[in-house]
Amino acid sequence: MPQHEPLHLPVTQLTGIGSQSAQRLEKLGIHTIRDLLFHLPLRYQDKSRIQTISQLVAGSSALVCGTVEYTEYPQPGRSTITCRISDHSGTLSLRFFHFSIRQIQPLKPGTKLGCFGEIRHGFNGLEMVHPEYRVIETPEQLLESSLIPVYPTVEGLSQRTLRKAVQQALTLCQQCDSLQDWLPPQLCKAHQFPSLREALQLLHQPPAELTPLLVNGHDFPARKRLAFEEFLAHHLALLQGKQAYKHWQAPVLRLNPTSKQRFIDCLPFKLTGAQQRVIAEIEQDCSQPKPMLRLIQGDVGSGKTVVAALTALAALDNGYQVALMAPTELLAEQHFANFQNWFANLDQLPCFLSGAVKGKQRQTTLNAIASGEAAIIIGTHALFQDSVQFHKLGLVIIDEQHRFGVHQRQALRAKGQYQNIRPHQLVMTATPIPRTLAMLSYADLDISVIDELPPGRQAITTRVISNQRREEIVQRIHDWIAQGRQVYWVCPLIEESEQLQCEAAEKTALLLSQLLPDVRIGLLHGRLKATDKDQVMQSFKNRACDLLVATTVIEVGVDVPNASLMIIENAERLGLSQLHQLRGRVGRGSIDSYCLLLYQPPLSETGKQRLAIIKQYQDGFIIAERDLALRGPGEVMGTRQTGQIQFRIADLERDNDLLDEIPAAAAWIKQHSPAAITALIQRWVGLQRHQYHDIA
Ligand code: ADP
Ligand code: MG
Repeated sequence: MPQHEPLHLPVTQLTGIGSQSAQRLEKLGIHTIRDLLFHLPLRYQDKSRIQTISQLVAGSSALVCGTVEYTEYPQPGRSTITCRISDHSGTLSLRFFHFSIRQIQPLKPGTKLGCFGEIRHGFNGLEMVHPEYRVIETPEQLLESSLIPVYPTVEGLSQRTLRKAVQQALTLCQQCDSLQDWLPPQLCKAHQFPSLREALQLLHQPPAELTPLLVNGHDFPARKRLAFEEFLAHHLALLQGKQAYKHWQAPVLRLNPTSKQRFIDCLPFKLTGAQQRVIAEIEQDCSQPKPMLRLIQGDVGSGKTVVAALTALAALDNGYQVALMAPTELLAEQHFANFQNWFANLDQLPCFLSGAVKGKQRQTTLNAIASGEAAIIIGTHALFQDSVQFHKLGLVIIDEQHRFGVHQRQALRAKGQYQNIRPHQLVMTATPIPRTLAMLSYADLDISVIDELPPGRQAITTRVISNQRREEIVQRIHDWIAQGRQVYWVCPLIEESEQLQCEAAEKTALLLSQLLPDVRIGLLHGRLKATDKDQVMQSFKNRACDLLVATTVIEVGVDVPNASLMIIENAERLGLSQLHQLRGRVGRGSIDSYCLLLYQPPLSETGKQRLAIIKQYQDGFIIAERDLALRGPGEVMGTRQTGQIQFRIADLERDNDLLDEIPAAAAWIKQHSPAAITALIQRWVGLQRHQYHDIA
C-alpha cells in the first residue's frame, strides 16, 4: 500500500507523539496511525452524568459531586486519610493511603469536590479509594460529552497521550478512505453491523447517551463487528500458517508393508477399526512430499500411542529420525517403555531425553541424536532445546497437545528443518475441543478422530461421595485390595503451590498407612527424582504395591490394567476434562472398575451439576460439550493452555455465537477478496503474527 496514505504514516506524525512515546507505543505493537485505530479501549469511564450519593452502587464507577465535611488525618504510625463528603442525598468516604501534602491540602471542610472512582463497601458505608478528584466551582464543569476510553498501556505512556493521539487518528480516518471494510456485505447486513469506520468511532468515543455496560455488552453492534473481524483474522492466520507450511518439502515416508505387518503381528492386541482408519489417513499424508500437519483426537484409552508408533515406523523405514514429545516426565518414560517393547524385534532401540538426563549421559544422548545413531527419540520439551541437533528428523510427534499452546506447536515446526525440508507433524490429544473452538486453535491442522475404544473395556461406575464418608471408603479399599486388585488415591491441587500439593499427598499416604497397616502403599508426586518416580511406577505395575497415592501427575498416560478403583479427593475443584482424564486410568483391564469422587460439603449448585455430568457420562466429547455449556468457552479452552490467544476486543465467552459463522466468512473472503486475508491478519494479529508463521 502506498506510503503517503495518512493511516500508514508512523505515529510520530501525530501531534504529541515524539520518539519516546513512539517507542512506548511500539511495545504495544503500534507503529502506524492505523495500528492506533485498532488499539481498542479496555473499558470506559462515564463522566457524562453526576450521580447522587444515595444512588451509588458498590462495584461500579461514578462521578460524584460533594462538599467536604471533615478530613481525618493519619494517626501516628498509620497513614490513611479519610475524607467525608456529602451532597443533598447522603455522605461518602474518600480514602487515601499514599499522598503528598500538596494533594491533601484542598480537602478542607466546605470545599466543593468533584470525584471519580470505583465505589466499594467500606467501614462506614460506601467509599472510594484513591479517587480522581478536583476542586470545582460548579458541577457542570466536570461533565464530558462522551464516555472516556481507558486503553491498555505501558509504563510511561499516559491515558491522556493515548486519547489525544487516537482522537487525531480518528479525524484522519474520517478524511481518507484507505480503511477497507473486508467483511462479506451480506453478513454485515444480516447482523446490522455498522461500517468499520463507524464502529471504530463508536468504540473509541462512545456518545454520552450510551453506558459502559452497553458498549461492552454482547449486543453492541460496533463491538460485535470488530470482535467478528478479530476472530476471523485469527482463524485466517491459522489457515495461512498451514498453507505456508504445506509449501515446504517433506521427506516421503512410505510405510513398508512387510515391516508394518511384522510390527502389527507382534502386538498383543488387534488394532481397532478406528485405529486402522487413522493409520491409513496418516500413511496417505506421510507418503506426500509435503509436510503432514495432523491432529489425532481420541478419548482417553482409545489407543493413540500405538498409532504414533506405526507412524514412527514409517520414518524409520525410510531412514529418518522421529522425535516424540510428551508433556510430563512420567508420560515420556511410559512411552519410552512402550516403544522399547514394540520396537525390540526391529533392533531399533529408542533413546530418552528430558531435563533430568544430565552430565555424561546427556552428552552421549545428544551425540547419538546428532549422528543419527539414535532413530527414535522420546522425551519432554527438552527435545526442542537449542542444544539438541537432529541428524535427519523426518517426523515430530507431540502427545497430549492440550498441555501445549497453539504457539508452542507452531514454534516446534521450525525445529528439525534443513534447507527447504520440514518434518511431518503429528499431534495427539484426548481433550475434545468443541467444533466451534477448534476454529481458533486447530484450524491449521487436519483432524483424525479415533472414535472407538478397544474391545473389552469395562464401564467405569462413578460415584459422588461426601468426604465425611471416608471411613467407609477406607474399608472398601481394604476389601478391594484383599481381592488382589489395585487402587489409585488422587490428591489434586488444593493449594496453588506444587510443594504444598506434594505435602498433601505425603500426609494422605501417611494417614492411609495408619488406617491400612497391611496394605503396601506407594507415593508418587512431581517433586520426586525421575529414578524414584520410575521405581514407584514400576513397583505399582509389578503389583509390588497395592495402593498408589498420587498427585495429578498421573493424569496423563499412566497405564496399569489391574488398578480398577480410583478415589479422587476434592473432585469439585477439578475441571471436568481433568477428572475425565484421571478417571481414564481405571477401566483398562477385565475387571469392573469404580471411580469415587470425594467432595467437601457443602457442594454448590454448579458443583453438583458438574459432578453429575462426570457421573453420568463416559464419553469425553459429551463431557466437553456439557462442560462448555456450563462453564463457557474461556474456561474450557483452559487456563492451563499456556499459549492462549490474547484478543483485543473479542471475548470467547461473550462472543461465542459469532464463531459459527467464521468458516463461511473465511471461505467467502478467500474467494472474493483474497487480498483481505493478509490485510485482516495484519490489522488484528499484528505483532503476534510471527507466532503463526513458519519461522523460516
Ligand atoms: P491413549 O489414547 O489414552 O493414549 P493408550 O495409547 O495409552 O491410550 O492405550 C491405552 C491402552 O490400550 C494401552 O494399554 C494400549 O496398549 C492398549 N491398546 C491400544 N490399542 C488397543 C487395541 N486395539 N486393543 C486392545 N488394547 C489396546
Ligand atoms: Mg496417551
